[in-house]
Order: sequence, then structure tokens, then C-alpha cells
Amino acid sequence: MTDRMSLSLAQADPDVAAAIDHETLRQHEGLEMIASENFVSEAVLEAAGSVFTNKYAEGYPGRRYYGGCEYADVVENLARDRAKQIFGGDHVNVQPHSGSQANASAYAAVLQVGDTILGLDLSHGGHLTHGHRLSFSGKLYRPTFYQVRRDTELIDYDELETIAERERPKAIIGGGSAYPRLWDFARMRQIADKVGAVYIFDMAHIAGLVAGGVHPSPVPHAHITTTTTHKTLRGPRSGLILCGQQLAAAVDKAVFPGQQGGPLVHIVAAKAVAFAEALRPEFRTYAAQTVANAKVLASALQEAGFRIISGGTDNHLMLVDVFEKGILGSEAELALGKAGITVNKNSIPYDTNPPLKPSGIRVGTPALTTRGMKEPEMRQIAVWISNALDVRNDDAALERIRGEVAELANQFPLYVWRRAPLAGGV
Ligand SMILES: *Cc1c(COP(=O)(O)O)cnc(C)c1O
Repeated sequence: MTDRMSLSLAQADPDVAAAIDHETLRQHEGLEMIASENFVSEAVLEAAGSVFTNKYAEGYPGRRYYGGCEYADVVENLARDRAKQIFGGDHVNVQPHSGSQANASAYAAVLQVGDTILGLDLSHGGHLTHGHRLSFSGKLYRPTFYQVRRDTELIDYDELETIAERERPKAIIGGGSAYPRLWDFARMRQIADKVGAVYIFDMAHIAGLVAGGVHPSPVPHAHITTTTTHKTLRGPRSGLILCGQQLAAAVDKAVFPGQQGGPLVHIVAAKAVAFAEALRPEFRTYAAQTVANAKVLASALQEAGFRIISGGTDNHLMLVDVFEKGILGSEAELALGKAGITVNKNSIPYDTNPPLKPSGIRVGTPALTTRGMKEPEMRQIAVWISNALDVRNDDAALERIRGEVAELANQFPLYVWRRAPLAGGV
């Protein structure tokens, strides 16, 4: 055994070790309200940090291009079986490295370069990979978009249908990153069938709520369902594709060798662990609490005088129109950051301000719910958000809120032994 193989990270690379320690402390001390983030369990971290990172396993279980894949097969089969148990669906591919890779593969499975796609406009809650001109999806395919209605801020399915009939897309894409309401999966499928399009639903944000039984599932309606595994689903940073048996071979080929080489077997193992967690009863409690927390937070913010896009939320996130109070989303993000509350600036539908200085912020409850926070904490946080925005130019006042935030965070410990090096012991 060489020295290189036996040194701890702190010994081998103190700079990276210190950055990890500081990040652990940062995650513990603040209030993580970015809607797409969460905290994985120690078990998921352990699998993600395992020796499977050393293994090449191109191909699929039982049909690999490399030897020595017997244990890689075990974890990939576990991940596949558990994902099917959670979501249903005839076929699952657990190899996409990320949500974007999952979408790239799903499109490649059913589209030719140049085909028309129809997705939700990014500034109305969609995602870059649903046809934005800077994304592969807007370069390889011909993007068209549907939007939300100006009055209700809900998806305009009538407009969607009109556009679909006019543009004749090969794929209609549902799902998004900043849409706080339920989707009408059946209506979308009906429109897709009418124009002969494939219906792809990207449930990246809501997958954990679907798994926890507190949100309707797109899987029975969509030809292909894609997702990330690290948002509400609370697994490692990665992706997943579900589809019917007719598309199974095309999807598998599109992932490997179409888009990717060897799977990240350590991450596939971590996905298997996270999916087992999602099958336990406690996960349903977490999912229900995530939605309950979002509803309480949204109404508390409304009581504090904020306009919530579409008047509330059905899921784990909400969009707050801070510009109605004369504050830019970018200013709000900065001030809340100084107060220890992490959110992101976000465009709101029909925004009159530019994307880097938009009118809104996006706020989500999954990460705080994982830490065990409930309705009383949400009401307290709404007060802090409101106060922090009032004193947004007063650093000392924001620092005082940060102290109170840290006190609350300390009551909901996170990664206790991992932050021991900086916290001066447990
Ligand atoms: C987050 C997200 C993605 C992309 O996931 P990455 O893992 O960051 O590539 C794709 N689609 C939607 C709807 C998302 O919210």
C-alpha cells in the first residue's frame, strides 16, 4: 500500500478538505430554501463516496462491455427495481448522469435533429432543456413554447392546444423548475395524441412528492417521464428515465452509447439507497410535510403583504413577486443571503425586468423539511424574510437576523460528525 492510498483527505489535500468542512458548516448554519436542493442521508453519502467510483460498467446489467461487473449489476438492478416500485412504469433507465442528460437521451430516443418540440417557456417556469436557444435542446431541435395565462398565472392549455395544432411538434414537454401548481397530465396527453406528438414529462422538481404520494403522477400519462434524483426525491445528484416497453430499447440506446459512456456506478448505488428510503413510510410523512410547509409559508408571506404568483402553491415551491414592493429579485437574494436564508432570484411570468435582475424570488421547503422543520418554523421564517427585505440595506440588522437564523438551525442538527472538524468536536 502506497502512502497516496492511505492518507486521509485532510492529510492529502488540506485545501479541499477545508472547503468541504466549511461547506458542511454553511449547510448546517443557514436556511436552505433553494427549491431544487435537499440533504441526502449519511447512507446515500456513503454509497456516493464508495469504491464503485473505480468501476467501468458500460452496457446494462447482464450485458456489459467490461468484466468484473457482478456487483455493479447488483446495485443497478436494485436501483431499477426500486424505481419501478416507486413510480410504476414498464421500463426504467437509472444511468443518466443528470436531469439534463436524461432529457437529452429522452429526446434522442424519439426525435430527429431539426424536429419541432413544444415546451413551457423558461420565463414562465420551464427549464433550459425544454428548448432554450442556449441549450442543446434549442440548438438540435426547433423549439416552440407555451405559457401561463396572464390573469391566473396557470398554464394555458387552450393556448397549448392551439400552438400544438399550428406547429405540429414531434414532442410536447411538460414540467418545469418554477411552476407551483398541479399539471393537467391527461389534457396534455390528449393534445399530444391529437397532433401525433410524443408526450414527455420532466418531473425533476416534483418526483419526491410523486414518490411520497402527495402529488399526482405523470407516469401513467406520459410516453416518457424524466427526472432528476436530487431535488424533492432526495437522492444523489443524478437523473432517471421511465417509459413504456415499446420505447425501452430506444431509450436505453439513447443513454448508452448515445449520450454517455460508462455509468457512474457509485451514484447508481447511491440512487438505489435513496430509492429504498423513498419506499419507507417516513418518506410519505416528509413529502406531506414539505407540501404543508410550503402552503403555510406561502400564506404567511401573503399575510406579510407579498404577492405570491398564482395565489399560492400546490407543491414544494412558490414564486414571490418582490418587485411589487419595489425590490428586485437580485437584491432580495443578496439581502436574504446576508441573513442566512438562501433563495434564488427568479423571473416571474410576463416579467418586465431582465433575467439577472428579475422581479421575483423562488422559495422552496424540501431541504428545511428534511431537517425536521414544520409549520411554526415556516411562520417564523416568513417573518424573517419580510424583516430582512425591509432592512435590506442595513448590514448590521441583517447580521442580527442571521444570528437568530443560526440559533434555529442549531435546533435541527445536520451532518453532526461531518462538521466536527470546524465545530470543535461534537
Ligand atoms: C433541475 C432540472 C433539470 C436539470 O437537472 P440537472 O441535474 O441540473 O441537469 C431538468 N429539468 C427540470 C425541470 C429541472 O428542474
